[in-house]
Amino acid sequence: MTKISVLGSTGSIGRSTLEVVSRSKGQMNIIGLSAGRNLQLLKEQTEEFRPKMVSLEREKDAQEFRQSFRGYPVEIMYGQEGAEAVARLEENDVIVSAITGINGLRSTLTAVQSGKRIALANKESMVVAGPLILDAVRASGAEIIPVDSEHSGVFQCLTGENRDHVKKVILTASGGPFFRLPIKEMKDKTLEEVLDHPRWKMGRKVTVDSATMMNKGLELIEARWLFGLESAQLDILIHPQSIVHSLVEMQDGSVLAQLSPTDMKIPIQYALTYPERGEALLPSLDLSRVKTLEFYQADEKKFPLIKAARLALEEGESVSVALNASNEVAVRAFLEGRIRFTDIPETVIELMESHQKTKVASLEDIYEVDRETRVKTRNIIEQR
Ligand code: MG
Repeated sequence: MTKISVLGSTGSIGRSTLEVVSRSKGQMNIIGLSAGRNLQLLKEQTEEFRPKMVSLEREKDAQEFRQSFRGYPVEIMYGQEGAEAVARLEENDVIVSAITGINGLRSTLTAVQSGKRIALANKESMVVAGPLILDAVRASGAEIIPVDSEHSGVFQCLTGENRDHVKKVILTASGGPFFRLPIKEMKDKTLEEVLDHPRWKMGRKVTVDSATMMNKGLELIEARWLFGLESAQLDILIHPQSIVHSLVEMQDGSVLAQLSPTDMKIPIQYALTYPERGEALLPSLDLSRVKTLEFYQADEKKFPLIKAARLALEEGESVSVALNASNEVAVRAFLEGRIRFTDIPETVIELMESHQKTKVASLEDIYEVDRETRVKTRNIIEQR
């Protein structure tokens, strides 16, 4: 039986993970759950899965939780320490890292330091701290299996292959809701329209990132570290059907691809069962019904954050941290109705233009750049 802890259990990836576990016919067991402020859902999850340990963001929620679960054999923690305690549980076989944003960095690193398997959905931690995480992997012997669908596709294509034979990796993108929209109509897009993704049901942050295509930019950087690739080996193709999740071109000209129905349970299950494969949880992919698979170049004029992410990919160090932090602040401002949709890329690019690159050699360096960037980005937003 595979013993699993989920960091970010009430989010979109967390909920899908628990569905995979509950349909595993006893092959998988939840031992730790960490969540933010969704007390009600965490209560339901705790009753259903009976973990050994749960963690919430706030102390007062942890106290309420203790009242509700008096008599249950569950340890209740809170805050950053709580999330890290869940990541560190001795019995863990796999830790699913599914907290959104840089908020997931410390617990992801703690999970890596435990030397276990990490099913990685928190792409931002790879973006801001790729080299640190890889150092920790080497030191602890941990294993990172990507959950992000494109990276799971690449990982599956590369299983059994010599990675030195890879010529190019192409990540596909749905193009989000505005792929076919003329550039001048993007400005007036409402929150509702932005959150109405044509293919994937996801959390709010990644859905907004999908609409600006920053998601794909972050994924380029994630792939750079996960697979040890250079910028020139990484590309994006828009593929509105979201059936082909990625393509890997080998040096002999063969192109490998991974196809599957558009549902995160597939890459999640794979990360939990690898190198085995579980039973399908979805109906088979019927390509005779899909009929057409289209591929387009991404328009970097319309989606300028792709270019900004490419710069961060090539520069690395504090530039990646600044990219991520300014984007997190701008996305939040948009979600709170404080800026327009097209202000997101404009804000991030304005910040990036003024950013002075520095070395980041430690977690402290990263948090320092993150903090400074957030302050500067808020100033840019206020002055708009
Ligand atoms: Mg993805």
